[in-house]
Amino acid sequence: MLPYRVLTYLVTLPIFLVSLTIHEYAHAWVAYRFGDDTARRMGRLTLNPLAHISLFGTIILPLLAHFGWAKPIPVDFSILTKRQIFKVAAAGPAANMLLAVILTIAFHLFRLPPEGLGNFVLLAILFNIILAVFNLIPIPPLDGSKMVYARLKSPEAISTYNKFARFGMLVLIGFLLFGGFQIIVLPVAALFYTLLGLPLPSLTIKDQKADNKLVSAACLGGAPRRVEKAETSWCRNPHGGTIVNIVTALIVLGLVGLGIWWVIKSLGQAGQQYSEALVDAKYSAITIKCQTNLRVIWQNLQMYATSNEGFPPSLDALEEWSGSSQLFQCPAPDGQKYVFIPGQSPDMSPENILVFEPKPAHNGKCSVLRLGGQIELLTPEELKKSVDVTVAKLRQAFGGNR
Ligand SMILES: [Zn+2]
Repeated sequence: MLPYRVLTYLVTLPIFLVSLTIHEYAHAWVAYRFGDDTARRMGRLTLNPLAHISLFGTIILPLLAHFGWAKPIPVDFSILTKRQIFKVAAAGPAANMLLAVILTIAFHLFRLPPEGLGNFVLLAILFNIILAVFNLIPIPPLDGSKMVYARLKSPEAISTYNKFARFGMLVLIGFLLFGGFQIIVLPVAALFYTLLGLPLPSLTIKDQKADNKLVSAACLGGAPRRVEKAETSWCRNPHGGTIVNIVTALIVLGLVGLGIWWVIKSLGQAGQQYSEALVDAKYSAITIKCQTNLRVIWQNLQMYATSNEGFPPSLDALEEWSGSSQLFQCPAPDGQKYVFIPGQSPDMSPENILVFEPKPAHNGKCSVLRLGGQIELLTPEELKKSVDVTVAKLRQAFGGNR
């Protein structure tokens, strides 16, 4: 007779293979739908379990721990939007939940007994729920961490995540060693399982010890105890029934959710401020460059005026005279060519606008060079007013011919 553990392993291996394959296939399929064919090119867009198994996670680990994982699906984050990354990461757990629901419907529909084939289906449902919940833990490299990553907006938060991701595996092992699986994953999975109205499966063939473990984990607060084969409902213990489980699991779920929300929020806020400062710094660097341009243009204008007894007739003429066209365009990404108001002479009002940029490229303001040599930042409204005043003065000076 084979030892019960090996027997259990042989019975549950198909469940591991199918559930893990569907999980990984869902990641690959959604990524492929979003235009990332990395997984397809590596032969992972398939329901063939052989493409997804990992020797340790899928074959060895289940023998030791009744649990396992498959090879992660390679995803090219660089060609996906954040929203798409979120959906690709969520696809795996969602597929397992869907499979659990479909199997539950089948279990109820065909009125399967909780033994034999029925027990096999119950085990498959339970494993899929546990797999989904486990993968939703926001610790790298689990799917939940990628979903959190996809919600991060600022460079600061993303760099914090990347630092954390490097130690993710260590954190995950620590989490499991300190009972994270029993304290968080199993109760949350038990909540979903309970909500589906299913009887508890016998985890193994004649493995009473493992049954006890499962029951004590699922029935929070209840002492580990033996379950009779005939007993098919959850947690008939003196401390409370299913309601206690649901309430406890809800509280745990709520606390976990609150923790995740808090981490995202505080990371997000710090990042927001950081990115705003970064944008400000970038803006002022461009503004300084733009105003340096205008300063050089003003010097060129003065030199032109000295040798030609007046300002150039057009910006083109000044550009030709300066021998540089780069100087006459705002260096901001959306910066435009400067506009020159010709027909003025150096002795006119220093308040007149001489050169300005037509589009506000500096935090909603335009760089402006006045005839007196002052360089300023004006809002489009202020600029329009000043240009109108300048043009009006020019009309006056030239008898309304302009
Ligand atoms: Zn996954």
